[in-house]
Amino acid sequence: MTAQKAKRIVIKVGSSLVTNNGEGLDHAAIALWAEQMASLLKAGHEVLMVSSGAIAEGMQRLGWTQRPQDIHQLQAAAAVGQMGLVQVYESCFARFNLRTAQILLTNADLAHAERNTNAKATLDTLLKLGVVPIINENDTVVTDEIKFGDNDSLAALVTNLIHADLLIILTDQGGLYTADPRQDATATLLTDAIAGDPALEKMAGAAASELSKGGMLTKVLAAKIAAQTGASTVIASGHEPNILTRLLAGEKIGTYLTPNTK
Ligand code: GLU
Repeated sequence: MTAQKAKRIVIKVGSSLVTNNGEGLDHAAIALWAEQMASLLKAGHEVLMVSSGAIAEGMQRLGWTQRPQDIHQLQAAAAVGQMGLVQVYESCFARFNLRTAQILLTNADLAHAERNTNAKATLDTLLKLGVVPIINENDTVVTDEIKFGDNDSLAALVTNLIHADLLIILTDQGGLYTADPRQDATATLLTDAIAGDPALEKMAGAAASELSKGGMLTKVLAAKIAAQTGASTVIASGHEPNILTRLLAGEKIGTYLTPNTK
């Protein structure tokens, strides 16, 4: 399906975008996404956000300049930072008369039948109410996305859960390149590919920035998971102006990964 036809859309933003590279939460960026999401809601789309940034914000609040190695310190930072994260989402979305809701989930919750049913029912109800769910991993009880992924896999599992049509992964790169563009000048942007194509995993490698533990590999793997329930995935730069409304207007930006329909 083309982006324009997507009804339910999961939008995932990583730590480096939400926190302006660790310089505290980027209110301006969050307000711009809120504005775009308000116009998508008006146009009849349903939108959910999966946002990390809790650890980065928690580190800032605790005055830590270096990301600790100790997992329990990271979990503690996430608990501190989550408070700030939801405050900023709430106030930025309120400017556009939108209500937000905090949802903390784990992969294990979604693998458990009753919890999965409850999570789906809650999200469906919030969407019907026109509320924008802001989802993060529950870092107090698990460490999956802290260790690897920066919520890329969680976003894909949420896409499966609510049968979303499109997963938009916003990142600090322009999309998926044939090689790491920071290291290889010959790298070119891949505009279209089939989600789950093993060649993509090789291309993506495992490069990750300092602030997050994501990188392209977990995004490519997320697209593969999203495709299991028929969703397409777009990996695009969160720094691109009006990225969400332009993607939904059908503009080709970033990398578009579609399920294999053959
Ligand atoms: N859930 C974590 C967060 O919100 C994952 C990102 C990370 O490991 O920095 O910060």
